[in-house]
Amino acid sequence: MIAQEIDELRRLLHYHSHRYYVLDAPEIEDAEFDRLYQRLVKLEQDHPELITPDSPTQRVGGTPAEGFERVAHSVPMLSLSNAFSAEDLLAFDTRVRNGLPDDSLEYVVELKIDGLAINLVYESGRLLRAATRGDGTEGEDVTSNVRTIRAVPLVLNGQVPPVMEVRGEAYMPRPAFDRLNDERLEAGEPLLANPRNAAAGSLRQLDSRVTASRTLDIFVYGMGAREELAVTTHEQTLQFLQELGFKVNPHYRVCKTISEVIAYCQSWAEKRVDLPYDIDGLVIKVNSLAGQRQLGSTAKDPRWAIAFKFPAEQATTIVEDIVVRVGRTGVLTPTAVLRPVRLAGSTVSRATLHNEDFIKEKGICIGDTVIIHKAGEIIPEVISVVESRRTGAEKSFVMPATCPECGSMVLRIPGESAHKCINSACPALLREGLIHFVSRDAMNIDGLGQAVVTSLVDSGLVADAADLYTLTAEQVLNLERMGPKSAQNLIEAIAASKQAGLARLLFGLGIRFVGAKAAATLARHFGDIELLAKASADELTALDEIGPRIAESVVESFARPEAERLIAKLTAAGVKLTEEIRRTTGILPLTGKTFVLTGTLPTLTRNDAAELIESQGGKVTSSVSKKTDYVVAGEEAGSKLDKAQKLSITVLNEAELMALLGTAQRDEEPSLS
Ligand code: NAD
Repeated sequence: MIAQEIDELRRLLHYHSHRYYVLDAPEIEDAEFDRLYQRLVKLEQDHPELITPDSPTQRVGGTPAEGFERVAHSVPMLSLSNAFSAEDLLAFDTRVRNGLPDDSLEYVVELKIDGLAINLVYESGRLLRAATRGDGTEGEDVTSNVRTIRAVPLVLNGQVPPVMEVRGEAYMPRPAFDRLNDERLEAGEPLLANPRNAAAGSLRQLDSRVTASRTLDIFVYGMGAREELAVTTHEQTLQFLQELGFKVNPHYRVCKTISEVIAYCQSWAEKRVDLPYDIDGLVIKVNSLAGQRQLGSTAKDPRWAIAFKFPAEQATTIVEDIVVRVGRTGVLTPTAVLRPVRLAGSTVSRATLHNEDFIKEKGICIGDTVIIHKAGEIIPEVISVVESRRTGAEKSFVMPATCPECGSMVLRIPGESAHKCINSACPALLREGLIHFVSRDAMNIDGLGQAVVTSLVDSGLVADAADLYTLTAEQVLNLERMGPKSAQNLIEAIAASKQAGLARLLFGLGIRFVGAKAAATLARHFGDIELLAKASADELTALDEIGPRIAESVVESFARPEAERLIAKLTAAGVKLTEEIRRTTGILPLTGKTFVLTGTLPTLTRNDAAELIESQGGKVTSSVSKKTDYVVAGEEAGSKLDKAQKLSITVLNEAELMALLGTAQRDEEPSLS
């Protein structure tokens, strides 16, 4: 049983190593490879009698590819063992201290550039040969390709030993990678998985002109053979290399304790997004070269260094089902039900599949193993299918011909990729519309979650948004799982929302294309729903930020008889259908000021804060640059805050923002209403 699992793991690891190292076309993400690898390490530790010399745990990475001359490395190019947590780093520190009982121990922590290792051999200060790591003892001769990388000095300045080997990581900067993939997309060629594979593929071209056309760069981080060199620490080695004209990554740090190492590693988890190249972790090395020699290496990796790997930003899981949900506009959205998996700090069990075209394009079937990530760091999304995991039992997905909610016909909207239920009275439309109406950025009614809204609709108590305002505590009390206290609270919350104002109401009505921003613009300009309802498309498009698509949709919505009925009912219920008109001409106090919001503010939602800023003429953008005037930061603010500090941009907390707005409000001329 165990032997069988070991065999299967080795087979899988060999297969994926070949795809990764030789074909430069991985099918699974690195964290998944590491997970399989760690499982094999664990099984081999428990059953050392099953270790074989060809096990992936006993040898370095790939084998040199055909077509290149093989070159032997005079000092083996090893891999690195991995740490995935602070505990792993503490265990590494304990191992090092056991091997080096000397309290002057220091570590050098460097960024782990996600590219491929290159060995540069210099004789009498001239570049003689450049080779890939290959299997660690023999690599591929890629000299003519490496010569095209400008950061590789062909001749060294100053006093150098007769023979020396310099080791570094060749990589493709992110902008170059994005450009390359754009070109490939246009040419209809398959896209490259990531900058690492793009760099490896570019360096292992048989035609150097292709390599030259790809922007590659290199950071050097160490030496192999080093005759007669008077350096005694790794830090000095880095300084020496820099003096010779090599590019050394500037973000290395000498740390005296493992806690300092851990803090430095953690500090890069977010900062790394701002680098113009990819890193997949940090490398921790014993600083003293004598210490490194004393600790020595295993066949695969040095005992004096370890790679700290960042948690996966991607994860692999299985699509257990594809379900279809009907949204408030009647559009059917397929969603993947996933085997739950940890991804960037949370457990993910669903991912939107957008529409039928998306599923077809990605070739997603029920039962498939897929790679997922978080789009915009929030919404789980499927990146691709791991075809090698297919068993033949997968089922393809077909969009239902009838609505899963009401059984009416489903039609594909001409010219769009969406499928829609044709029944304008479909209960899903009402339910989803109400869920939107009561949501935080709309009428913000606490206690009206999905379950309560569903019971209100199912029991027939609510047939449109206005019906919410005539509900009584007794009616609500009859709903399932509703106690007298919560019924009373709900009625009070509904009553309080009557004062939410026109901007929120308009957004809550869910008019197609009218988001919170457009709703606020319309509310502030017209000030009254009756006036807005009479506005022509031309009047609407005359406003800033209201395009023809929004205008047409607004006109169409208010032309419907249901709209008139709804307005009458809302008026009768005492819901505020007006908003203070603000001057849209002239200079507002924050005109010309650009804000970026990051993190969670104590009381305001992002939309609230944006609304307040925009009401004073300020502009809210999503990324920090030199043009940003203020960054408003809440809890768990990430890289945007770091960037603001780097660029010396004023950072405000919520109270400071309110103070700024307060002054702004006092300076403002009186509003027109
Ligand atoms: P590694 O990439 O984990 O670490 C060793 C390498 O780190 C070195 O060879 C060097 O190239 C690089 N490096 C970058 N910066 C460095 C620095 N400052 N100092 C020293 N080295 C630095 O080890 P590996 O053996 O090359 O690859 C193993 C990893 O490759 C696995 O952990 C996995 O994540 C990935 N892999 C993925 C697949 C896949 O299918 N996705 C397959 C095989 C391997």
